[in-house]
Amino acid sequence: MSEHLVVAKFGGTSVADAAQFRKIKEIVADNPQRRFIVVSAPGKRYPEDRKVTDLLLDAYVKAAAGESFQEELTRIKARFQEILTGLEIHFPIDDEIEHLAYSLRTDPQRDYTASRGEYLTAKIMAKYLGFTFVDPAWCVCFDENGQLDMAMTSRTMRASLLPLQRAVIAGFYGADMIGVIHTFERGGSDITGSLAACAVGADLYENWTDVSGLYAADPRIVENPATVSYMSYRELRTLSYMGASVLHSDAVLSASEMEIPINIRNTNRPDDAGTMIMRHLPHGVSKNPVTGVSGRKGMSVIQIEKVMVSDGSGFSALMLDILKERSLPFEYCLTGIDSITLVIRSDLLESCKDDLFEEIRRTLNPDFIGLRDNLSLIAVTGEKATESSDANVRVLQKLTEHGIEISTINQGAGKLNLLIGVPQERYEDAIRTIYEFRQSMA
Ligand code: ASP
Repeated sequence: MSEHLVVAKFGGTSVADAAQFRKIKEIVADNPQRRFIVVSAPGKRYPEDRKVTDLLLDAYVKAAAGESFQEELTRIKARFQEILTGLEIHFPIDDEIEHLAYSLRTDPQRDYTASRGEYLTAKIMAKYLGFTFVDPAWCVCFDENGQLDMAMTSRTMRASLLPLQRAVIAGFYGADMIGVIHTFERGGSDITGSLAACAVGADLYENWTDVSGLYAADPRIVENPATVSYMSYRELRTLSYMGASVLHSDAVLSASEMEIPINIRNTNRPDDAGTMIMRHLPHGVSKNPVTGVSGRKGMSVIQIEKVMVSDGSGFSALMLDILKERSLPFEYCLTGIDSITLVIRSDLLESCKDDLFEEIRRTLNPDFIGLRDNLSLIAVTGEKATESSDANVRVLQKLTEHGIEISTINQGAGKLNLLIGVPQERYEDAIRTIYEFRQSMA
């Protein structure tokens, strides 16, 4: 058998306490191909709990304001102490916390402080598993502007990791040429995992969390939604963009470029297969035409009418220029014979609405311009949904049968994605209706 190489990233809830560390040890022992382990900082153990990263950021804010940060450091130390006591590990946590306190007193740095959760977790995990600790300050490279240097990171990570038999890497941060620590956005340990997987040319990137994969619909709206067994990178990006959050989108991007499959797994239920995200479905696997449904509330539709918009006079291009000048992003734009429909997030539109309309009137001299607020946009995702166009038609039919007004529809020529605008007050109904339809196709 050819040797497979797996990078396994464990999120905040998976390292929240000693019991979770033990589960990771079993998972890692279960498969020697899991050579490189990436960890987040301890997350919440129960809903009212605080994440270690949040405590660290609070400590930084207080330190920067010249206030006492003792309370936060005491809580952070207690979190790590509980893990160390539970696992019976000797680790100089007092010294580490004292070092952090010193840096906060003398020269408080936001990113350095925020990164200490992952740093300490990875050091403790490495000791617990008997693996080598890898500090990403050595191999996740940022440039002088604080931007990730992809090429350099890839080379340096590869050179640092591949000679090691097994290693634990701290997620979420890296450093620039002069050693200043930079963090990714919140949730960025996923990115570290993906960078490591790409750098070592992993066969699989496992992302261990506290759910058994991606849900086909938002569990706050649909009771016990099904998890999706397989989906493509594009489907995942659409669902994430529209509100489903499990993986950081930048992490998906780099893994998809290298075609490394991502497997979302549950640390608390390691026997569940989870969701497999890859470019193409394996042969013989049949798939529901609707992979998932997600959406966003708070959308506005601008309708601009002018006879023969599409006659080549550049009307649409001018319209898009107006939006671009204002850096106003739009969700989608549909051009008809005599009209343009734009869907824009209401919160972004709010502050510039009057101005924008004034400019559209002045520059484009439309016959009519109208605005409708309080809409939600729903994405029905399924790479096959438009191939068997029947599924899309039936989704719309179901909504109509349930008396849900369909305000806009966008179905591109690509295979993916039906975007439907529905009144905000029917958002939850619409999601449930589409989910029920999905299940009826299973
Ligand atoms: N610890 C960081 C956060 O809470 C990064 C991560 O967990 O991925 O955002």
